Amino acid sequence: MDLKKTDTEVFNKLREALLSISARIAIVPHVNPDGDAIGSAVGLANLLVNKGHRAVVISPNSYPAYYNWLKNKAEIVFADKHRKKAEKALEESDVLICVDFNDIGRAGKLQKSIEQFAGITILIDHHPGPENFCDLMVSAPEYSSTAELIYDTIIRLGYKTFIDQPVAECLFTGIMTDTGSFSHNISRPNTFKVVSQLLTFGINPDKIQAEVYHNFSAGRMRLLGYCLNEKMEVFPRYRAALISITKDELKKYNFVPGDAEGFVNYPLSISGIVFSALFIEKEGYVKVSFRSKGSFPANRFSAKHFNGGGHLNASGGEIKTSLEKAVALFRQLLPDYLHLLENAES
Ligand code: 5GP
Ligand code: MN
Repeated sequence: MDLKKTDTEVFNKLREALLSISARIAIVPHVNPDGDAIGSAVGLANLLVNKGHRAVVISPNSYPAYYNWLKNKAEIVFADKHRKKAEKALEESDVLICVDFNDIGRAGKLQKSIEQFAGITILIDHHPGPENFCDLMVSAPEYSSTAELIYDTIIRLGYKTFIDQPVAECLFTGIMTDTGSFSHNISRPNTFKVVSQLLTFGINPDKIQAEVYHNFSAGRMRLLGYCLNEKMEVFPRYRAALISITKDELKKYNFVPGDAEGFVNYPLSISGIVFSALFIEKEGYVKVSFRSKGSFPANRFSAKHFNGGGHLNASGGEIKTSLEKAVALFRQLLPDYLHLLENAES
């Protein structure tokens, strides 16, 4: 069993919190949920429903349509569209579980309601440096994904009998997407151990791959082609590259949320490039994604300059400036990081 760093006491308290079948449980993923956030939230909700609880997933906002196939036995409320309903669902819950984030700012509009939550709060997450905003924390940065961590947490709690195909599908989706289809963060044998266990619940990995990765619009493919051809800037001296996309460009290619997923990874396949950035112009701010290789700390870079954070090799943030200024800041910062960029293994 992994999870050695988490105290037995935490699991005892967790079991206690989930002991009463009448306990109503709310699960909150981070804003702009990705495959791990939504797979973890819905997978855990399905498990708790199987156990007999009333569970509700309250998402700060919607997720990309290519996750719509995930089977959800619990209710799901999107706080951006139904703010009052989301707040009420939180108020009526006895237990709150935050998944795949460890910084309360990542709860978006739900931040206040979480801070005021009267019941027991639990965090299950794999990001480094957790903030202390929950009563019970299962925080394990060595894990590939929150979904992998949830699987081990379920086993540790003794709830294996409540895992079924929909739970396993959700957790597999979380692990698959957070590891880029098993291409990074996969050095721990436990990740594959968990995946092999999930396969015993009758899931179809080929189908899941196709649902998530072969489900894009033609517009997204054309936008990707355009970005790589016209919008990518490469800085060989700094082993870095960037892609920036304006609002008008998004409109031209009929952008829908999730369409730019994965774009930031492409420059890393250029020989020698160890740091990649994607800038997307939004209303009043710029959303930034960073990916790196080896020791270059994409999370530190993001936290320091772009109000963000994340993992060593995958991070993101936001900045309230124009797209041009955000990109200019990035270019201007590269010389300060020359040493780290030169020394990162590619
Ligand atoms: P993505 O580039 O896929 O949006 O995000 C990659 C990772 O960076 C996420 O898993 C998350 O850990 C982190 N991340 C993305 N955006 C933000 C942000 O605005 N704030 C913080 N703290 N982390 C972020
Ligand atoms: Mn994750």
